[in-house]
Amino acid sequence: MTTSADLDGFRAEVSDWVQTNFPSALNGFDLGADSPSEKGVSGEFRAWRQALADKGWGTPTWPKEYGGAGLSDPEAKVIRREIAKAGAFNPIPPMTGMGVTMVGPTILEYGTDEQKAKHLPGIASGEVRWCLGLSEPNAGSDLASLSTKAVDEGDAFILNGQKIWTSGAHISQWCGAVVRTDPKAKKRDGISFVMLPMDQKGVETRLIKLISGASPFCETFFNDARADKKDLLGDLNDGWSVVKRLLQHERQSQTSAPAAVKIDQEPLQEQAKRYVGTLQDGTLADPDLRLRIVGNLMDAEAHKLTVSRITAEAKGQVKVSAAASILKNSMTRVAQTKAELTLEMMGNQGIGWEGEQFSDEELRSVRDWLMGKAMSIYGGSAEIQNNIISKNILGLPETTQQG
Ligand SMILES: Cc1cc2nc3c(=O)[nH]c(=O)nc-3n(C[C@H](O)[C@H](O)[C@H](O)COP(=O)(O)OP(=O)(O)OC[C@H]3O[C@@H](n4cnc5c(N)ncnc54)[C@H](O)[C@@H]3O)c2cc1C
Repeated sequence: MTTSADLDGFRAEVSDWVQTNFPSALNGFDLGADSPSEKGVSGEFRAWRQALADKGWGTPTWPKEYGGAGLSDPEAKVIRREIAKAGAFNPIPPMTGMGVTMVGPTILEYGTDEQKAKHLPGIASGEVRWCLGLSEPNAGSDLASLSTKAVDEGDAFILNGQKIWTSGAHISQWCGAVVRTDPKAKKRDGISFVMLPMDQKGVETRLIKLISGASPFCETFFNDARADKKDLLGDLNDGWSVVKRLLQHERQSQTSAPAAVKIDQEPLQEQAKRYVGTLQDGTLADPDLRLRIVGNLMDAEAHKLTVSRITAEAKGQVKVSAAASILKNSMTRVAQTKAELTLEMMGNQGIGWEGEQFSDEELRSVRDWLMGKAMSIYGGSAEIQNNIISKNILGLPETTQQG
């Protein structure tokens, strides 16, 4: 068990190491906005990523043999906080797409020793990016309706079908895909989870252009694409269990980095005072806005404490559960409300898309507001989380949905 004295010592060690190793040339680099891909990053960026990977601190709780540092959750939290405090960042999770947050933890749980040795080190070093081929044009919330076929051909599966909304598919080296391996079985019983390289003739990606001009996702087509049988994750036709776990990891990852309490951002109440002004006693001039900001700050704090409690109850183990659905919905509500409040206090300054009359902070706020809308859709929509909460946590009867 890690004592608080051990943690204090570790905190000092991490702080020193980050101060010494984080290149000053990367000060101010905005990981979110600059969305790094392997091609676009500088030498300093690569050196910093490599330094973190060598310590295993990009994926601190993963076993050492697969590129992690074998640390506890409290130690991982110390690393996160010290990195943020120094104005630095951990580039490894975003550079792996879905690798660190979803695919890696699922391979750790379901993978064979051979699969762990093959796939995890490339994720832990931040060099291999993964996308996920789950959704299809007629299979989103009702994912088990998926129809992409995988036919057994000796030592490989041959895939045919279409995926949609595959985030980062055009820049990923690997894809984790759910496919139908037994068309005769009941829909959840005939699905498997396969891993396949994106750089092959049978895989085509087409960018989906958004109204903002950005294209973060693709339509992905499999035309006789090949997935090696050694890359079947979990048992044949038991892909539904694998994907359910993977989605819990996704929700978990969306709850533990609360957008509403970013360390490096000016607190909402201070921002509001600058835009709206203060009364003589220094309080925010608009009492109604003041109340709503307090409500949001309390919700953010309650969310943060609940995440800590659930982590502590899991005794430092990385345990994901149905509670991830509650936390995903509460995180979404906190972040969406915060984005609404920020736009409201900024007024017209908060709705500009580009132009010198808007500060970086103002341009970020409108993008955060728009992205907030997607939060209640990706990783399973808010309504689907409510269905999971009602069935798996509250024990209420099934919904009327068939399947
Ligand atoms: C930013 C972003 C990134 C994404 N990245 C990926 C990715 O990388 N890979 C991938 O495979 N997919 C990805 N997706 C797709 C995402 O998983 C789906 O959009 C999501 O699961 C919802 O499915 P759908 O869009 O088909 O909506 P639908 O299933 O058509 O749902 C439409 C509406 O109906 C509601 N609804 C549907 N069924 C029920 C029900 N039984 N009870 C109550 N309400 C219901 C939904 O909640 C929703 O509000 C991404 C989506 C977004 C927004």
